[in-house]
Amino acid sequence: MIEKDSRGAGAADGGAGARERAGLLWAPRAWVGNRWCERVVLEAGADGTWQRVEAGVPPPPGASILAGPALPGLVNAHCHAFQRAFAGLAERRQVNQDDFWSWRDSMYRVAGRVGVAQQQAIAAQLYVELLRGGFTHTCEFHYLHHARDAAGGAIAPEASGTPRAMAQAIAAAAGETGMGLTLLPAVYERAGFGQSGPRDDQRRFVADAAAVLRLRDELRADAAVATGAGPKVRVGIALHSLRAATPAAIERLQAGSDDAPIHIHVAEQLQEVDDCLEATGLRPIDWLCRNAALDRRWQLVHATHATTAEIEAVARSGAGVVLCPSTEANLGDGIADLPSWLKHGVALSLGSDSNVTRSALEELRLLEYSQRLARRVRCVAAAPQEFEPSTAERLWSRVLRGGAAAAGFSAWGLQAGARADLLVVDTSAPSLLGIAPSHALDAMVFSSPNRPFRDVLVAGRWVTREHRTPGAAAIAARFAEAMQELWADPS
Ligand SMILES: [Zn+2]
Repeated sequence: MIEKDSRGAGAADGGAGARERAGLLWAPRAWVGNRWCERVVLEAGADGTWQRVEAGVPPPPGASILAGPALPGLVNAHCHAFQRAFAGLAERRQVNQDDFWSWRDSMYRVAGRVGVAQQQAIAAQLYVELLRGGFTHTCEFHYLHHARDAAGGAIAPEASGTPRAMAQAIAAAAGETGMGLTLLPAVYERAGFGQSGPRDDQRRFVADAAAVLRLRDELRADAAVATGAGPKVRVGIALHSLRAATPAAIERLQAGSDDAPIHIHVAEQLQEVDDCLEATGLRPIDWLCRNAALDRRWQLVHATHATTAEIEAVARSGAGVVLCPSTEANLGDGIADLPSWLKHGVALSLGSDSNVTRSALEELRLLEYSQRLARRVRCVAAAPQEFEPSTAERLWSRVLRGGAAAAGFSAWGLQAGARADLLVVDTSAPSLLGIAPSHALDAMVFSSPNRPFRDVLVAGRWVTREHRTPGAAAIAARFAEAMQELWADPS
């Protein structure tokens, strides 16, 4: 039984130690300053950041020559790792009308069963897949706070002691695989607007503002003493949603906040918009803009149902928006107003959210295709009038920048001072054969290379080389074992 095994910092150290340092690299082509540049030197320092990025130079002596063009890694700005255990298993109609709310009831049944070791096993498998899919950093929106009791049931919040173990399991999975991580412990207080507490199946999620701020500080203390060679875990804060957090909790959390990111789910579902209107007289994004003092630290996850006035208010605030195209499609949430978000210059990023998809390229493709289907036109995200005619390049540039803000980085991408992350494109993939550099990103997003990245670097260490990820077979075996336990368990 995987639950009884101990897999903590030791496994994380072993994984990171086995990963080779990159040092001095040279790329025939690399994405620098939001465009392709030729003949680029990239030097990663011992601290895991880029010391030197310079285009237009020949390979220096001793440099490793990359086998293909280099792209910066993307931030996965919204993720609930445990939901990876549910991917593909909620596609049978159980009720007369299957929707977000019936899906959520089923998801809660999985959430109720996941233990600490299973949490780590699921997250480790997920991170291997996300790294191969173009994401080198993940923001974990963490609300599965409380561990299970010995009988496998959910524990009453007051009896559960510290909720740190489930978050530590996520950090250990990141250390094991080399994934960069921003942990976002979330406030969760109640079942909905006007409710005094949670439903029974939400009890593992309960944490008030004081508990979240304490957990933030404890997780930062853990990160400060972590000895692994992987990137240092960053820790921000989150509010599950306006329906699950009271205005008083939002105020208390904000009073205890610092420079780190603050994430919140908002306006994902029309029912949530209606409930918020009924309870407060305002739509959720409008309520946030008027009451939460939004600024660049804030990340509005989904923001699917937004009026033009709300989009303008978010733009004025400096807050970012996290779009989760595959999850929003899977759950039937609706379609975001992408052209308006782009037009108003709001920082946009991508989230894998429920993890039905673990590929940045698939998320970008679906983001654009949902717009084409709804509007019956092509190349919606492109902006020829702004000299950004490539759909994929414009989206890539935007989510690169927005993702950095969502994860709390002031510098990101292929530039000196940023963390030394990159993806080496596999130009032998059939859909990229003979493609000119000017069209490479469009082909990667819209022509579906099945193994797009041959090498992946995080914080100056190779986590994947020639499509091979050290430790991936053992991680997959543990994941399969965890899945069998979760789905065999009748509780
Ligand atoms: Zn979410």
